[in-house]
Amino acid sequence: MRRPDAQTMFLWAVLGGGALFLGYLTLFHHPGHAGNQATRVASRKSPVQGRRSFGYLEAVCALGPRFSGSEGMRRQQTLLSEHFEQLGGRVRKQTFTARHPLDGTPVEMSNLIVEFHPDRAKRILLCAHYDTRPFPDRDPRRPRGRFIGANDGGSGVAVLMELAHHLGSLDRGFGVDLVFFDGEELVYDDRQGTYFLGSEHFAREYVANPPPYRYEAAVLLDMVGDAQLQLYQERNSLSWPDSRPIVDEVWGTAKRMGVIEFIARPKHEIRDDHLPLHEIGRIPAIDIIDFDYPRSSAVSYWHTEADVPAKCSGDSLFKVGAVVLEWLRTTKLGTP
Ligand SMILES: [Zn+2]
Repeated sequence: MRRPDAQTMFLWAVLGGGALFLGYLTLFHHPGHAGNQATRVASRKSPVQGRRSFGYLEAVCALGPRFSGSEGMRRQQTLLSEHFEQLGGRVRKQTFTARHPLDGTPVEMSNLIVEFHPDRAKRILLCAHYDTRPFPDRDPRRPRGRFIGANDGGSGVAVLMELAHHLGSLDRGFGVDLVFFDGEELVYDDRQGTYFLGSEHFAREYVANPPPYRYEAAVLLDMVGDAQLQLYQERNSLSWPDSRPIVDEVWGTAKRMGVIEFIARPKHEIRDDHLPLHEIGRIPAIDIIDFDYPRSSAVSYWHTEADVPAKCSGDSLFKVGAVVLEWLRTTKLGTP
């Protein structure tokens, strides 16, 4: 995922006065991290397992770097295919070729699509990118070091692996597809990279060759494992009239469950895989993302070698999984 573009940053500079005021509100209304209490509240209602979710995060990270076209990515595809088939999902790969950003050579990419209840014509899309950035290029010491992408690349995958345990028994009017996007960030330089190759390909295929089903909603999970979890509402998701009801439902679900890490206020505007889904695929789409993963000059885990499982927690993965599952069980979207 990438930061807001310069134009947006300028707009926010102009609106600085308002931002300062919001900052003031944030200071006095921040809910803090009463994590354990919220876990107890939510766990009474949810079969989602935090410890197992964290085990999945560790297993995926143990494969090493998983950038597009790498050996780690191939091993991850095998691991995920076996995992989801065991849990009753129907797995297929959507393969395409992209040009390598450095030398133009072809890179084979695959989105992985896992269907639960494929017979149902109304569907909900839960997705995450599963490639990792090739290098930790924001690392102050070793920008050409080893990037594991625990939060950025691993956390969304881990939550979806856990949710798969609970989707076969989901008795709603819609089916669920889990989609793992390749090529989200085969990017070597922030200033000139092409992002979202997998989600863009997926959205173009959905429009060019319409399947016999429709996606009622898409929920993207990105950077949802930070041990200090703070999930503000993402501004693009809120700005789209067809997508805003999903934001309201998801954050409303979290509130009912007492999961205070879902903070029902906008903060960041993020360009992420939900953009192609919405702009090209015309699918109502939201991004659940914690963009407050430490990234100051003094302490930064984002796109650095410090993005490792120890900076994440099973508690955070549990909370996101529990809220999303409860949302699936109660949403009014996609129901007759
Ligand atoms: Zn990233």
